[in-house]
Amino acid sequence: MNKAESERLASYLEQAGYQSATSAEDAELIILNSCVVRQSAENKVINKLNALKPLKRSRPGLSLAVTGCLVNSEIDQLRQNFPYVDYFFKPGEYPPWIDNTQSGLILPQHPSPAVFVPIIQGCDNFCSYCIVPYRRGRERSRPVEEIVAEVKELVRRGVKEVTLLGQNVDSYGHDLPDTPDLADLLCELNGIDGLVRIRFLTSHPKDMSAKLIEKVACLGKVCEEISLPVQSGSSDILRAMRRDYTVEHYYQLVTDIRSRIPGVALSTDVIVGFPSETEEQFQATFDLLSALRFDTVHVAIYSPRPGTVAAREFMDDVPLATKRERLSRVERLQGVIATEINSRLLGKTVEVLVEGEKKGRWRGRTRSGKLVFFSDNSNCLGRLVRVRIEKTSPWALQGSVKTSNPD
Ligand code: SAM
Ligand code: SF4
Repeated sequence: MNKAESERLASYLEQAGYQSATSAEDAELIILNSCVVRQSAENKVINKLNALKPLKRSRPGLSLAVTGCLVNSEIDQLRQNFPYVDYFFKPGEYPPWIDNTQSGLILPQHPSPAVFVPIIQGCDNFCSYCIVPYRRGRERSRPVEEIVAEVKELVRRGVKEVTLLGQNVDSYGHDLPDTPDLADLLCELNGIDGLVRIRFLTSHPKDMSAKLIEKVACLGKVCEEISLPVQSGSSDILRAMRRDYTVEHYYQLVTDIRSRIPGVALSTDVIVGFPSETEEQFQATFDLLSALRFDTVHVAIYSPRPGTVAAREFMDDVPLATKRERLSRVERLQGVIATEINSRLLGKTVEVLVEGEKKGRWRGRTRSGKLVFFSDNSNCLGRLVRVRIEKTSPWALQGSVKTSNPD
């Protein structure tokens, strides 16, 4: 979400006459888009702000602004802590010093072939560990017509793939007249000429419907990739996390998804060391990851966030050394699983949408979201290219362009 908002902010500033600078030292304006989902992310933005202080002091003409989830309702406190920051504005808002009355659609003039499109802001779930609802507010869905118009315009400007974004995309539309849902939105977008691929994230296990699974299975442009955070393999911990589903429900959901969408790539998020998590409860998470074999697992150490239910009501009682050990056990397990899953693609031909170039090699993704690198002398940007996979790793694939039919 932050990445999407940064891109939109950059387009907005471009349209207001700004140009991008090559370094902080060159800039007249620096905006930090902050994340505070864990303490480590918050520390990062605070360190960055501290590091920018001497530059700001030596160049009074430089404007410094902060947005993102660091900006809470206590702006006065932030102003006191960081008096050298010129502006604070809330996540998803636009810079207050620019007249935004005629902004209209704030889209990049020359977008990348694959872009993010926020469809729902905020979150109503209040998982006990999570600060997001406090910083981003309640859910607000964008109307279907607005999203369709935006995607059509993006396609006109060269976009081939959109990733629909929200903290919980599965609850999209419940606050709109006629209550359309994500499946309805996917049907509308699937009909847009020139759009090649559609993805969405993040799904919530309590809200993912059979209708949505059916649409992913049958709509040709919707990719076989689902991000379904489980957070824990213990139903007791899930209850303390206020996730509103059980481990049994999650297993059944994954079974249903896999039987209806062959070849689907699944990713998940896991928190280790949640308050009172025992060795057995962690083992249940480990067992779930071993059994369900995800393509990708994002694992994080529990971090108490101010104002959340967990931080108020539970002691952060799992020792840091135990948390680290659990984190590295999950990372090692996932390294083995991802190595095996990806190695099955060796010798196969995959369809890659080329998103950019890195160190002289083209970079793109398969429909299932696998990152692929290959070399080619022609301009492949934005093209669908068939690539024969010659090398795999847990994180990415490498190959060369194939001209005959796919395997
Ligand atoms: N909405 C999504 C969901 O339902 O899981 C994810 C959004 S959340 C901002 C991204 C991930 O950060 C979560 O899946 C969770 O694993 C992690 N996270 C959130 N709060 C955390 C905390 N207090 N400590 C550690 N990890 C946290
Ligand atoms: Fe946070 Fe839960 Fe909302 Fe995800 S669903 S953003 S974890 S409160």
